[in-house]
Amino acid sequence: MATKSKRLRARAALLCLLLLVISVAALGQDQPLRIKYRLAMSHPNSHLFWVNIEVGLPPDAKLESLDFQMPKWSPGRYAVFDFAKNVQEFNATAPAFCPEATGCGVVVTVPVSRIDDQTWRVAPSGNHSFVVSYKVFANDLSGTFSQLDSRHANVNGGCIFMYVVRHKQDPVSLSINQPKGWRVVNGRTESENQSEWQFPNWDIMTDTPTEIAPDWTEDDFKVGDKQYHVVVHSLGNEGGKRPALARDIEKIVRTETAMWGAPEFDSYTFLIHFAADGHSNDGMEHLTSTQVIESGSLADRGMYEDTLDAVAHEFFHVWNIKRLRPIELGPWDFTRPANTRGLWIGEGITNYYGHLIQRRAGLWDDAKFLSTLSQQITEVENAPGSRLMSAEESSLSAPFIDDAVHAQQTNLANTSVSYYPKGEVLGVVLDLSIRRKTGGRASLDDVMRRMYEEFYLKSPNATYYLRGRGYKNEDFERMATEVAGADMSDFFKRYAIRLLNEPEYLYSPMIGYPLQMPLQLFRSFHSPIL
Ligand SMILES: [Zn+2]
Ligand SMILES: [Zn+2]
Repeated sequence: MATKSKRLRARAALLCLLLLVISVAALGQDQPLRIKYRLAMSHPNSHLFWVNIEVGLPPDAKLESLDFQMPKWSPGRYAVFDFAKNVQEFNATAPAFCPEATGCGVVVTVPVSRIDDQTWRVAPSGNHSFVVSYKVFANDLSGTFSQLDSRHANVNGGCIFMYVVRHKQDPVSLSINQPKGWRVVNGRTESENQSEWQFPNWDIMTDTPTEIAPDWTEDDFKVGDKQYHVVVHSLGNEGGKRPALARDIEKIVRTETAMWGAPEFDSYTFLIHFAADGHSNDGMEHLTSTQVIESGSLADRGMYEDTLDAVAHEFFHVWNIKRLRPIELGPWDFTRPANTRGLWIGEGITNYYGHLIQRRAGLWDDAKFLSTLSQQITEVENAPGSRLMSAEESSLSAPFIDDAVHAQQTNLANTSVSYYPKGEVLGVVLDLSIRRKTGGRASLDDVMRRMYEEFYLKSPNATYYLRGRGYKNEDFERMATEVAGADMSDFFKRYAIRLLNEPEYLYSPMIGYPLQMPLQLFRSFHSPIL
């Protein structure tokens, strides 16, 4: 008995020790760090951003090393770009130890090593604070890359800021040191000449693109109690169209907020570039801002309309995809591409509403709206890949088809279909089906609103990243069924999922659905309430 109880006591002591070791290790690893980012750009013509990351460790931390990682891609554009390829001169320093106040102010080099294609390892060697520094080459104006040149700095954080591995959830601050005479603005600017920001985590910091230039303009308006800023950097002639552009953007904001209800922010910034370089063209959604980049001058024919089209789409993302989001879209693992089946909902249905909203806002007439839908239907029907790839598979193929660059020849032009037009056409058919099944009493608007309410507004936070939780495609199908008051599973199976092992679904024609609509319903389906 005695021997047994001694053995039990020894085992219990060992267990306690083990738990202590584990909890100390966990404390050292996962206690939040103090992380400060500094961004400088003293030589714009070099296209080199200078990044400093100041890290403060908890007093009791005994870290052997800390890893700093460049994402392989950034949210909203799903191709893998390996941002680490533009990083150079990575190093780390720490304040020199000075017990007698001699040698203070001297810095010592902290050992660093590169451990894989995207990761640099820093060994603090007993220092409780150190600074990582590196440069990033950036000369592309887009919603994903960044650009620094003599005209401006346009910053998308995903390709500029490394995160600290296992500490992406920690609060961070950002301080920007811009060239003399240049002004800084982003979707979280609260005061003039602001140069410092606090963010709840790295993800939110990189979700906040920043424009820095001497000559951008700003037009403001208010909808409800929310402030909107239209920041335009024109690298070409505006033809006097900017004031009208801001007024029409306001119409889009009013129409979209009328559909969804008040958005969850105090202010929102449209960062718009007119880049007369002929190749910059993009739109990117963020929580409190968007980057819209048009490849030409505002004065150019069609540019004004193109800009509103992009704005209507990107602002709809405030709700659909940024806050109401597929479960895989945040927080992300940036060591591998995102895999989600939901982009036909997040992007395709946003494409549909981007067009619908312009009709509802009075910017388009019926003819323009219907001819645009007809183009989308034609694109889907004529794409050879639409007979081989379902909307869900298209979403999963995003890393290959969303602006991906291919070194080898591919057959994707024949085997893939984009989730933008495909999802838009599915949105039209789903909307019409719900309107028909409910006698016009409900529509896709109700599905979107109820999804937003259930998964964003009313769900407890599932992660550190953002309010609410992500949805699965099956949740969207369930909501469509609830709103339609009729089983919609056949629609999803036939047109969105189209299982590969069920060949009878492979060649289902989609367009039969809208043609069954009473003409009156079809003519007026762009109105929110019939
Ligand atoms: Zn600019
Ligand atoms: Zn989009």
